[in-house]
Formats: sequence, C-alpha cells, structure tokens
Amino acid sequence: MTQSPLSAEGVEQSRLLATPVPGPRSQALAERQAASVPAGVATTMPVYAARAAGGIVEDVDGNRFIDLASGIAVTSVGAAHPRVVKAVQEQVAQFTHTSFMITPYEGYIAVAEALGRIAPISGETRTALFNSGAEAVENAVKVARSFTGKQAVAAFDHAYHGRTTLTMALTAKNMPYKQHFGPFAPEVYRVPGSYPFRDGLDGATAAKHAISALEKQIGADNLAAVIMEPIQGEGGFIVPAEGFLKAVVQWCKDNGVLFIADEVQSGYARTGQWFASEFEGIEPDLMTTAKGIAGGMPLSAVTGRAEIMDTVHPGGLGGTYGGNPVATAAALAVIEAIEEDGLLAEAQKIETIIREHFEQNPDPRIGEIRGRGAMMAVEFVDPATGEPDAKLTNAVAAAVRAAGVILLTCGTYGNVVRFLPPLTIGEALLKEGLSEVTKALRSA
Ligand SMILES: *Cc1c(COP(=O)(O)O)cnc(C)c1O
Repeated sequence: MTQSPLSAEGVEQSRLLATPVPGPRSQALAERQAASVPAGVATTMPVYAARAAGGIVEDVDGNRFIDLASGIAVTSVGAAHPRVVKAVQEQVAQFTHTSFMITPYEGYIAVAEALGRIAPISGETRTALFNSGAEAVENAVKVARSFTGKQAVAAFDHAYHGRTTLTMALTAKNMPYKQHFGPFAPEVYRVPGSYPFRDGLDGATAAKHAISALEKQIGADNLAAVIMEPIQGEGGFIVPAEGFLKAVVQWCKDNGVLFIADEVQSGYARTGQWFASEFEGIEPDLMTTAKGIAGGMPLSAVTGRAEIMDTVHPGGLGGTYGGNPVATAAALAVIEAIEEDGLLAEAQKIETIIREHFEQNPDPRIGEIRGRGAMMAVEFVDPATGEPDAKLTNAVAAAVRAAGVILLTCGTYGNVVRFLPPLTIGEALLKEGLSEVTKALRSA
C-alpha cells in the first residue's frame, strides 16, 4: 500500500479540520435538511460531502475526513475511481435508460457473465439485476419459492437483510429497523446461528442447534430456503464458527431446501476473496450482491444455478430500473479495477494492519477483534462481566468522528465498531484512523 498526497482523482489524501465541525456550510445544510427531510432519515455525521476519493471524504467547509466506512461498504474501489468515472461518463452520454425489459443492452449481459465467472457457484449460472440489496433478497426468495413450490424462509439471529416488508421480517434487530413498522411478511422463521464469542459453541454444535430448530419448528417440507450472510454485517460482523455454514448448507442439500448466501455486504472483494462464502468452502444455490458491486451506483444482483433461476416464468422477474445501463457500466469498471489494481490483496493487507494495530494496543475492554479482509470489527465489553458495552462504543465512535474520522458502529447490542475502509485507502491514512480509535478508547 502506498500513500500519495493526491489521489488519482485529485482529492488530497490527508485529514484536515479546517473549521469547527460541523462548519458553517454544513450547519446551514442541516437546517435545510431538518425543514425538508423527515427525521426518520438520520445521519451518522453532521457534515455534508462535497468530494470524495481514495481514503478521504471532503466536506462543503473544506474539512477532510479519513473514510473508514466506504458509505457502508459500497465504495470499495474508492468513491471516484478513474475507471468507474470514465465508464459512467461514457455510458451516460450514450443513453441513460431504456429499461432492460423493453429494449435490452449489452452491459446487463456483460455483468451477468462477469458474475457467473466470479460467483462461488459451479456449473451454469444465471444473474438477474435489481437496484438495492433488499430488492435482491426479495427476488432471491421469490425464485426459491417458485423453484421449490414451498413458502417458508428461515433466517438467523443477528441477521440483516434490508428494510422492505419481506426483508424487515428477515432482519433480526428491532431498533431502528422494525419498530412500529409491522405487521411483517408471513412464513419467515428465525433460528439460532453461530456467534462464537458469545455462544461459545464450535461450528458443529451451533449447526446442530440450528438444524434442530429448522426441523422441529418449520420442517424441510415447508421450507423453501435458508438465507444467511456468510459474515453477518449489521448484526456485528459475526464470523460463524468454522464448519457451521458447511453443515447448514449440507443439511439444505440433503433436504431439498435452497441455501441463499446474502453477500450484499461481505461480497465483492471486501473480505480479501471475491465472496466470503469462499472461506467457508460452501456453494450457495442463490447469492445476492449489492453495495460494492457498482462503485456507488445503485445496482444489485441475484446469481444462482441456472436450473433454479430459469424456473421462473417469463416476465416474473424485473423492474423499471433493474440493471440500469449507467450502473452496469460502473459495475464492469469495478470488476476491472479490483482485478487490475490487485484489490483482493489490498483487502488482505488491511486485515493485517487492523489486527496488528489492536494486538499492539491491547485493552481489557476489547472483547474480540474479528472479521476478514477490510470487513473488520472490534467488540467492546465490560471487562468484569463480558457484557456488551454500548455506552463505551458510542463514546469512542463520537470521539473518533470529532477527530475527523468516519467510523460506523453495528451489532445487535450496539457494542461493535466496524472498519470498512475503501480498499484503495493508503496505509498511513488507515493507521492514522486506527490510532484515533485507540486514543478515544484510552480517554473514554
Ligand atoms: C445492506 C444490506 C442489505 C440491504 O441492502 P440495501 O441496498 O440497503 O437495500 C441486505 N443484506 C445485507 C447483508 C446488507 O448488508
């Protein structure tokens, strides 16, 4: 990893607090936001973006923040990768939209081919494109029901799959995602997963519990699909114990149940492989992708085994914008950027830097450092009891943000800070951001 003062996109790669934060321009925008945008759409930081590239987001007051969030794991190649910028500019000048369902275009097909090539699914695949992660999950469930002729879907404790009616039902956590928004979609069941730091179970034992719940509470005859994030994202960057996923996927195979890997957050080079499923040695029947897929353009996908995907009747899958030509042009550029810039290796280096930082700066309140690649997290606990410490987590996050670093929290218990830097962040910026976390922890 090298550190250049200017990213290729012209945003200076250094942290700078030029004004008190938020500065006057951001404050003025916040007032306009309060008068025009509902309070339900909340923001993490009170600063308004003007430019972003590499590892920096620059705000309207000229403050420059170290980006440890990538807009929630989206801008993995950076927020203005030259390849993505060029591809978008060229496509937008040709045509912005025709709807693939009316007069199709090559970009959609090229993305489907590319996903078929990189997906951890052997044999022939098919890919359908949509706009958001939640929409991809909805459609994966539709395909699974259509193929199996069954209705029930099982999701796990700590799962996050989106905010639409069906995906809220699949999502585990109430606040802020589900509160007052019911009733939720029927035929969704929740079973225990694997959270080794908290349940202390090995993969085989945790899988036994999950499979028992699937059999006793739902029954394979009713179950269309089991859906799981190979690393649970919003739930706390939970890496299941070794062997858990393999056992669950095998049970699905043996019982005529489809396994859907929700790789919306863990996919697309984030973990140091194309998909987190690859670490587990599993092959999903269906896989959902979004977030990092198109360098910030709204795009999502369902990729699956051809014989499953092709059972849906013509016209059964689609949407006005799904696979928009500008978004598909960006997606092709993202794949090229990941391959040509060696970003899988960058993600692996980021993991090493983050692990080394916290190993060299130990603290009894750090319960666990976990994750893979550039999808890393630290779980904070009360050292006396091991209980989750959300208050400390919020205090650390607030101090780090005030110091000019964009940092997100997550976790069912709100006691996890997560690191999702762009894979193109410079080593020095990453280390500077991490040292602010340690500073904040020491003074908390
Ligand atoms: C973010 C996320 C979703 C939802 O994606 P949206 O684009 O916000 O609808 C679904 N699944 C996982 C694992 C996610 O992280």
